[in-house]
Amino acid sequence: KKGILIIGAGGVSRVATVKCAMNIDTFEKITLASRTKSKCDEIAKYIKENQGVEIDTASVDADDIPQLVELIKKVNPKLVLNVALPYQDLTIMDACTQCGVDYVDTANYEHPDEAKFEYKEQWARDGQFKEAGIKALLGSGFDPGVTGVFCAYAQQNLFDEIHFIDIMDCNAGDHGYPFATNFNPEINLREVSANGRYWENGEWIETKPLEIRVDHDYPEVGVKASYLLYHEELESLAKNIKGLKRIRFFMTFGDSYIQHMNCLQNVGMLGIEPVEHQGMKIIPIEFLKTLLPDPASLGPRTVGLTNIGCIIEGIKDGVKKKVYIYNICDHQECYKETGAQAVSYTTGVPAMIGSKMFYKGLWNGTGVFNIEEFDATPFMEELMTQGLPWKIIELPVE
Ligand code: NDP
Repeated sequence: KKGILIIGAGGVSRVATVKCAMNIDTFEKITLASRTKSKCDEIAKYIKENQGVEIDTASVDADDIPQLVELIKKVNPKLVLNVALPYQDLTIMDACTQCGVDYVDTANYEHPDEAKFEYKEQWARDGQFKEAGIKALLGSGFDPGVTGVFCAYAQQNLFDEIHFIDIMDCNAGDHGYPFATNFNPEINLREVSANGRYWENGEWIETKPLEIRVDHDYPEVGVKASYLLYHEELESLAKNIKGLKRIRFFMTFGDSYIQHMNCLQNVGMLGIEPVEHQGMKIIPIEFLKTLLPDPASLGPRTVGLTNIGCIIEGIKDGVKKKVYIYNICDHQECYKETGAQAVSYTTGVPAMIGSKMFYKGLWNGTGVFNIEEFDATPFMEELMTQGLPWKIIELPVE
């Protein structure tokens, strides 16, 4: 077995594939496969021109396990990186266990018809992965992904006990459109228009969509309205960070985004059930996706910074302590380096790093793992040199 097989050819894949090409001494050989092969060829051409690295491309329908198995057997990689959509997680995981190949993804499985995401079905494959003697890394993007690594680093190096975690995700980038989503519109709008949820004292507390708002001062960015959302890493971190009392997730949204989203929601454009239209069945949110700008096209026109990080509070040597660990990314710098904007960049870089941890044997084991279950230090070191440097500041404890 040799090389990495990357599945999916959208914004995140572009960054992950470019970054793998920059680390070709680790990955040895790269194959990029997706439903639409021309998108793979376009990325391959970009990489040939900019990094001088040749990669192979292929077409595959990742909803179809036999097709995936055939491709994996033909390519014979050491590892499969899934950067298609969350709908394909289970089929790709099952193909990996059939072929005995390690698996990495960036988002947890979502049922196409249920708008519900949780780790249950991926965790349930732990036995299958152990039996096959292979490993899966779930959620190696930024959030989930780097946020879990930040928490693991704090648990392993900065605290004796962690009590409170707030994950703060700020995108202060401006693309100049009245309304557009930074990644797949279906996934993005389903996440934001759902009820909020956070975990406190062993229980999940549900809120109405965007019910809880805080105005948070993001280092190097400034004060931004931030809304409590449910986010998938809360499920695994609540389980894996021992002694935790509360964990929440906040994301920034501008007023224009929220106005548009509320309006679309009110007229039914975010619906996921088919509706009858002039004798045809259409799914409103899929039609909306056709109308909205392709997230990949936002790269050249987005300016500004992102700041994503974790505020972590707990005890060290018997004394209360609070730290803020965060990364700042500049949309235009990301575009210059990879041809994609910062939301794809901040996901694609950690997807490559997680793959590197497995590929080089820095993270070992058999079964299905979340990112915070491993030693955070080698991942944190890679972040510093691969384009996502982080900072830690101490905050006063109230
Ligand atoms: P895009 O929509 O830009 O790209 C998705 C790609 O997957 C497309 O190339 C698409 O092909 C391909 N694809 C879809 N269905 C199939 C299929 N059945 N078989 C083969 N290929 C398929 O998405 P993004 O790049 O923005 O996102 C990729 C992943 O990253 C998603 O899972 C998303 O949830 C996750 N993500 C994670 C974040 C994190 O921080 N953890 C943040 C942002 C995203 P085609 O073009 O033919 O439709």
